[in-house]
Amino acid sequence: MPATLYWMQAGACGGDTWSLLSLESPDLAQLLEQLELQVLWHPSLSNLSAAEHDQLVESITSGATPLDFLCVEGSVIQGPGGTGMFDTSGGRAKKDLVARLAARARHVIAVGTCASFGGLCADGATEATGLQFHKTRKGGFLGEGFLAGSGLPVVNIPGCPAHHDAVASTLAALAANAPLQLNEHNAPLEHFGLLVHQGCLRNEYHEYRVEERDFGERGCLFFHLGCRGPLAYGPCNKLLWNHRSSKTRVGVPCVGCTEPSFPKAQPFFSTRALAEIPIELPHGVDRAHYLAYKGMAAAAAPERLKRRKTRV
Ligand code: SF4
Repeated sequence: MPATLYWMQAGACGGDTWSLLSLESPDLAQLLEQLELQVLWHPSLSNLSAAEHDQLVESITSGATPLDFLCVEGSVIQGPGGTGMFDTSGGRAKKDLVARLAARARHVIAVGTCASFGGLCADGATEATGLQFHKTRKGGFLGEGFLAGSGLPVVNIPGCPAHHDAVASTLAALAANAPLQLNEHNAPLEHFGLLVHQGCLRNEYHEYRVEERDFGERGCLFFHLGCRGPLAYGPCNKLLWNHRSSKTRVGVPCVGCTEPSFPKAQPFFSTRALAEIPIELPHGVDRAHYLAYKGMAAAAAPERLKRRKTRV
């Protein structure tokens, strides 16, 4: 019997669905076939009437139809006043649907930063939150103690949007009952145990503090343009978009969209600094050592790196 999947869009822009539909190797149809996954419902792929959809939900929540994967895209909207009526399906609050389906699912996967941590709308008038985290705090909509039928908590695949290959490989691992190591934010360690900085082609510029102050240049974007690559955990320079690129590879600073605290209450594309030293240093770096090392590194930068602008 094929495993079953229900994909729900809650408070979101739909970007994670766009990402999913961009799967290439395998493409989405091939992935579903390989994993023997039956899509019970996906708002962009399914063709059920409202009545048929209601019947499906009743069948799942009564236990008649088993649910192996509940994938939720978007934050859980709880407003106004905890009713959830800002975000409804068939006249009912989607948050109640999330709760009913999660209670039956073997695995619950939060796809994207909004579903994982609340994202853009958290703390706002919509009373949005993540499935099992509210920003960095455990809890969220389902509560800290929630475990799916498999015994795992909600598996988070953050990103704005989540990378389709991370979604696909997580589904594949869970479908095969392979062990899935999670980090402290319940995201697969395989993809969220490394920094965006690792794999960035500008690393050599970073090491020698060859800095950029404007877009379109070739140095490191950390010192003035707000790049969060050395602070944000994510697969962006490991799983390339369209198998060929990432933000930092094309000269756009990482905005830290996989971080639980995304978006930060500070402007993108600028680095907060004191006396030209970033206030937030690369993850795990001690300030005293940083000050000593970076001054020497800049002085030792090879000419070929310093002359980057004339060598384009
Ligand atoms: S551009 Fe960002 S990710 Fe790339 S080396 Fe600089 S800090 Fe790291």
